[in-house]
Amino acid sequence: MQYRRTILKNFILATGLLATVPSLAQETKMPVVASFSILGDFIKNIGGDRINLTTLVAAGADAHVYAPTPNDAQKLVQAKVIFINGLKFESWMDRLVASSGTKAAIVTSTKSVNPLKSKDAHDHTHGAVDPHAWHDIANAKTYSINIRNALIEADPAGKVVYEKNATLYIDKLNILEAEIKTAMVKIPASKRKIITSHDAFGYFAKKYNLEFIAPQGISTDAEASAKDVAKIIRQIKAEKITAMFVENITDPRLLQRIASETGIKIGGTIFSDSLSSESGKAATYMDMMRHNSEQIVQALN
Ligand SMILES: [Zn+2]
Repeated sequence: MQYRRTILKNFILATGLLATVPSLAQETKMPVVASFSILGDFIKNIGGDRINLTTLVAAGADAHVYAPTPNDAQKLVQAKVIFINGLKFESWMDRLVASSGTKAAIVTSTKSVNPLKSKDAHDHTHGAVDPHAWHDIANAKTYSINIRNALIEADPAGKVVYEKNATLYIDKLNILEAEIKTAMVKIPASKRKIITSHDAFGYFAKKYNLEFIAPQGISTDAEASAKDVAKIIRQIKAEKITAMFVENITDPRLLQRIASETGIKIGGTIFSDSLSSESGKAATYMDMMRHNSEQIVQALN
């Protein structure tokens, strides 16, 4: 460890990086926790070398129905800042925070995002909102600004670094946003309906004028009813819907059943509530948005 650090230090001195990037040793980095992988990627981009990031819900896992471990409580105790999505995405977090006794700042990353109302017919609570705000890149920029501000507040010495990283990242998001917009306008008006497992793409749908139809609601915590499945099967046949995608976090069997009953083909996998593993197609938020858009454009053209 000491040896590796010396090598790194020599490398930094030799390349002159030290002057521009105030790098910190592992033990002096600010401990930060992210609730799930997509949020973790935003934080990684903005916190860079100054933070030591832990993500609770791993890539590929479902944050709606996560069961925290005693080890997670320990991570919260050690953290200086804890980032959550909010909009009731992490239903398990309040209890975990309370039981851990952590003194960390809890930051809601969707602060000042304009939330979409849930169209979930099962959700009878008034004013229920759709938590999947990250599927609109405009919101990803809001997440980035909230993260930047919270990191500066917790670690004022890193202000310049956080500001620079956030600006660079938002620049990249702007380019991606323009790229996807250009690809999406080419989809014919008659082909803008897509079947997925759960209602995770409301923000994406609104932005690009698409319609996502899902047997499960905005959360994965309840099974789809037989009535809802039958309704979707009728709709696919009546409206000749041709695009259907399984999600990385949900069991594909229900959609496979719908596929076999309607003859609709499963277009592949899109990423809804979690990134892929490092070697997968959606290892970062930007890769995820690019992959999802490409898959959708391909299926609808
Ligand atoms: Zn979801």
